[in-house]
Amino acid sequence: MRRNGLTKTSKPRQRCDAPLATPTDLTQPASKDIAGAMNAVAPISRRHFLASTAMATAAVWLMPRRIFADGESPVIVIRNAAATATINVTKLRGNVSVLEGSGGNIAVLTGRDGKLLVDAGITASRPRITEALEGLSSDPVKHLINSHWHFDHTDGNEWLHSVGAEITAHENTRKHLSVTTRVEGWKFTFPPAPEGALPTKLFGKELKLHLNGATLVLEHYPPAHTDSDIFIQFPEADIIHVADTFWNGHFPFIDYSTGGSIDGMIRAAEANVARVTEKTIVVPGHGPIGNKSQLIEFRDMLVSVREKVSALKKGGRSLDEVLAAKPTGDYDAKWGGFVIDGKNFTGLVYQGV
Ligand SMILES: [Zn+2]
Repeated sequence: MRRNGLTKTSKPRQRCDAPLATPTDLTQPASKDIAGAMNAVAPISRRHFLASTAMATAAVWLMPRRIFADGESPVIVIRNAAATATINVTKLRGNVSVLEGSGGNIAVLTGRDGKLLVDAGITASRPRITEALEGLSSDPVKHLINSHWHFDHTDGNEWLHSVGAEITAHENTRKHLSVTTRVEGWKFTFPPAPEGALPTKLFGKELKLHLNGATLVLEHYPPAHTDSDIFIQFPEADIIHVADTFWNGHFPFIDYSTGGSIDGMIRAAEANVARVTEKTIVVPGHGPIGNKSQLIEFRDMLVSVREKVSALKKGGRSLDEVLAAKPTGDYDAKWGGFVIDGKNFTGLVYQGV
């Protein structure tokens, strides 16, 4: 699957399929706050930052809105989109940058010990990811961390390993990649990944690394989005990549097939809020670079929708009746414009309460 050419079978969708809503409300707070934070510690051009954020958002909005509606798995849609996606590079703090546009957000730490990537993007984006990495520094790629097992974070494992990256991940990431794994929520069955794509440096609870003059703290979340989620913290630069426990401005996917649940997502969101300060740069699995107030907003949205859906389900309502009551109504305009719309998200919450 990871090499079988599925991405070549149909043409990637074009901009005309993108939703009509303006992306401005999704990016403005992050742009302002992060640009301010970065200006305080690094000579990053605000204009450059805002421009790359806007471009990243445009790339995201090439994604069709209702990818479940036409019966096509989001796996195919996301792979196809990655074949032509632009990769946008944003320098954060210290020697940490983010590449946006191919699957989940990719964090990159540069330096003499070789580049370290958090997440691998989609293989179809290899030429543009390579170009973006070369634009950051001439250091070879030596290290790759998978934030969790999902394909939009691990699809590029094999080629990155082939150019020299050792792959580090939670043991459940290797477990799921090693075998045939069905994700009901995506209507998709993943075959075992090739040997070269499997993480070889595994940990259970926590792992600390020292590379390129930076400390990295990797810690496993109790099951949340999946049972393999970890956060990757760069304490000196005060940056944290929180995997898919945070979708900034988007309803999240929750993978019940491999241990995820709405309650686990809420616990992870609480832990994320407690772990950061107002100055922390938060890299979400999907969506623009974020901050503490956006983590709080995301946590509050999860809690509110969960309470509404739970009350309806406990009152004996079927899923169709709950959907008709529109429990995400207050949130659809802001959070429903990406892969998961209000209906999809209601279904994911209903399953777990
Ligand atoms: Zn995921």
